[in-house]
Amino acid sequence: MNRLAGKVALVTGAGRGIGAAIARAFAAEGAAVVLAELDGSSAEATAHEIGKQQAGARALAVPTDVTRAASVQAAVAEAERVFGPVDVLVNNAGINVFADPLTMTDDDWRRCFAVDLDGVWNGCRAVLPGMVERRAGSIVNIASTHAFQIIPGCFPYPVAKHGVIGLTRALGIEYAPKNVRVNAIAPGYIETQLTHDWWNAQPDPEAARRATLELPPMKRIGRPEEVAMTAVFLASDEAPFINASCITIDGGRCALHHE
Ligand code: NDP
Repeated sequence: MNRLAGKVALVTGAGRGIGAAIARAFAAEGAAVVLAELDGSSAEATAHEIGKQQAGARALAVPTDVTRAASVQAAVAEAERVFGPVDVLVNNAGINVFADPLTMTDDDWRRCFAVDLDGVWNGCRAVLPGMVERRAGSIVNIASTHAFQIIPGCFPYPVAKHGVIGLTRALGIEYAPKNVRVNAIAPGYIETQLTHDWWNAQPDPEAARRATLELPPMKRIGRPEEVAMTAVFLASDEAPFINASCITIDGGRCALHHE
């Protein structure tokens, strides 16, 4: 407990799923947390739940659209006004855009990159000046195993997630001399609304769910809390020499050779 005591953290897309689990875990470890989320009501509900479950927890919901740089800057300004300078940023907000490359619309391409890559950059550039000035900070970008492996039919999501790894490594190197660490987490299948939406979009949702559970060596999918624990570690002072890296959380699936 208290591994993030005294820190201020901003988590994007924290109203539900992995982002909400990260916000809960950060608050449990003593951080003041800003839930920067498109859907203000889900962020409010999660912040309220954190406050109810954890005595002394500090959680603030700020409606934010990560695709708009000004919106993210306003969220950072609000975090600073209420809690103080942001020590930790988790760029978690993301959407699935899965299409056929040649029939995909321009709008699909732009929507994917606006959230999944521009959104991460907007977060980074909103907090970096302050972190550089204070010579301290940790940024954690939520990528995906799609950043390393291509599953047919998922275009252009993996292209954007490859970009997240590139951005993580580039900024990690750029700001290492200023003691700002930039790392990524690459989750495999994690059970959230996103996963349920994907199963439900398949012709046979139950068969799709069973196939997902059959693929990983551990024969299960991950829980949001399992990603959150790694985010706590990367955000904390327990990882002072981990920079420009990515930790995969997929039960070993990426290492498995498929015949
Ligand atoms: P969810 O869809 O459950 O949650 C994503 C959250 O991001 C939602 O609360 C959503 O808000 C929010 N969001 C979407 N667009 C924006 C935006 N423009 N500005 C601010 N917030 C926004 O997804 P997960 O929790 O499953 O995924 C979280 C991250 O993890 C994503 O980056 C995803 O790509 C990644 N990931 C997930 C995996 C999985 O299996 N679940 C696997 C690998 C990676 P709203 O509800 O209003 O749309």
